[in-house]
Amino acid sequence: MDKCCTVTLPTEMRDVKIQNYINGEWAAPSSGAYLKNYNPATGMEIAPIPDSKSADINNAVAAAKSAFPMWSNMPGVERAVILNCIADLIDQNCEMLAKLESQDQGKTVVSATAIDIPLCAGYFRQFAKYVTEGIRETESSMKVACTLSSINMMVPSSQLATTQHVASGVAALITPWNFPLLMVCEKLAPCIAVGNTCVVKPTELTSVTTYLLTHILNAAGVPKGVVNIVFGSGVNAGEPLVKHPDVRLVSFTGGSVTGSKIGAMAGGLFKRVSLELGGKCPSVVFSDCDLEHAITTHIRGAYQNQGEICLAACRQYVQRDIYEQFLDGFRKQARQEICVGDPASPKTFYGPVVTSQHMEKVTSYIRLAQEEGAKVEFLVNPNDPAIMNVSDDGRLTIKGLEGGYFIAPTLITNIKQSSRVMQEEIFGPVVCVVPFDTEEEGIQLANDTKYGLGASVWTGDQTRLGRVMRQLNAGNVWGNSWLAWDDCMPFGGMGCSGTSREHGPWSLEFYTETKALYTHR
Ligand code: NAD
Repeated sequence: MDKCCTVTLPTEMRDVKIQNYINGEWAAPSSGAYLKNYNPATGMEIAPIPDSKSADINNAVAAAKSAFPMWSNMPGVERAVILNCIADLIDQNCEMLAKLESQDQGKTVVSATAIDIPLCAGYFRQFAKYVTEGIRETESSMKVACTLSSINMMVPSSQLATTQHVASGVAALITPWNFPLLMVCEKLAPCIAVGNTCVVKPTELTSVTTYLLTHILNAAGVPKGVVNIVFGSGVNAGEPLVKHPDVRLVSFTGGSVTGSKIGAMAGGLFKRVSLELGGKCPSVVFSDCDLEHAITTHIRGAYQNQGEICLAACRQYVQRDIYEQFLDGFRKQARQEICVGDPASPKTFYGPVVTSQHMEKVTSYIRLAQEEGAKVEFLVNPNDPAIMNVSDDGRLTIKGLEGGYFIAPTLITNIKQSSRVMQEEIFGPVVCVVPFDTEEEGIQLANDTKYGLGASVWTGDQTRLGRVMRQLNAGNVWGNSWLAWDDCMPFGGMGCSGTSREHGPWSLEFYTETKALYTHR
């Protein structure tokens, strides 16, 4: 532990000079080109991103390949010591990481400090524990052999059958921008814990904290080449990484359209691939629920992290006899409690969306809803002195942050189920609330989607709760709650939300090859 007890990170964005991290060294991209990067709260340029290309990817994969034999053969307990060091250093630098994450992404410092950064450290500790405790190998003894013998196959009855989980090789880890460092650590921790080496290609929109992580990895004593981080765009850096012949495994979190491309590329080359994709998550609120609790949670579900959560509760179906009461409570409480503005302020509930292009995308759905005749309301607090203007499509001008990408908490009602607003992922602070009558109708509307990532059910009737939860087509279903979390539970989606399950033992499964060993004795 001695060698990893401190690291000095930049404390201000102006001191951050993002470089690739390949074979334990920092380097400019071979092209010498950089992509522009902006603080979404101000619209001002910040730390530019290397525009890496195939040459950088080739160097990174070569470094990872050459480190693989050493790292995969290192005893798990020794790898675990390094993982725990990484966790300690993340914790020690929580304040700094949270501050810069907020300036890069727009999320509030409060939420980055309370959620994102501690969870990052938690993943490294969790997988250090798994490999230390060596829970992977199983021994089925004579059972398999006996079964085979009984159907007259040429297998001796005195056979020991065991499974072995081995590291796969070089992994490609590709991540999105809504939880920048968290998405990287969620993949990196299990990937290297079990002995893989890797090349990480974080999103080009929010690369700052992943760059800071390179300094943490270095200080924690991660050997050269085990983790390589190459910054740049999906097309220039991501695609060559997925296609590289020495990459055995691809773990991707991002949009469904990109996921489909990556799945096709990686699948066609026989790589193991994990796809964690978008969502359009429904909630089904019955009239016998705890209404106050439901309203509070649905406001959080709609607007937390600017609505930039794949599990955001963005389609809320409410039983007709409490529909108006739910909406009245939702409007009143949201106007009172949702403070939109400076993400560094502890009073702020949510900050700007990630880029001006994303603001354009989100507001285009608001305009579409208006054109289709839906009722669109912007739930801003009329007494908030920081809000200087609300545009017709929900853009907010915030005093002192006039160049920022702020969008009002938006409530849409009177919208058709078939509308693109109801069917496509908006990924912003926009929620649709729609009435339903019967249990069957609630379930049918909730399941009427190409996605299947998350869903929630709200009722005081425990029998109905279980019955409806079982019928919703989603990888994560909550009863009378939203976003309850346990890192030991499987995480993933159905349909366009993805094909895989990660976290806990499911990550261990994905990041290893499983071998069946039969020994005659
Ligand atoms: P995106 O698909 O645009 O990009 C994700 C990553 O893929 C980025 O690093 C990008 O550079 C890279 N990429 C893009 N094109 C590529 C290509 N052709 N080849 C290789 N890499 C490529 O997604 P985004 O806009 O960054 O993130 C938002 C999306 O992520 C939303 O849909 C959200 O729901 C989803 N998301 C899902 C989860 C989950 O766990 N299911 C979690 C967070 C975010």
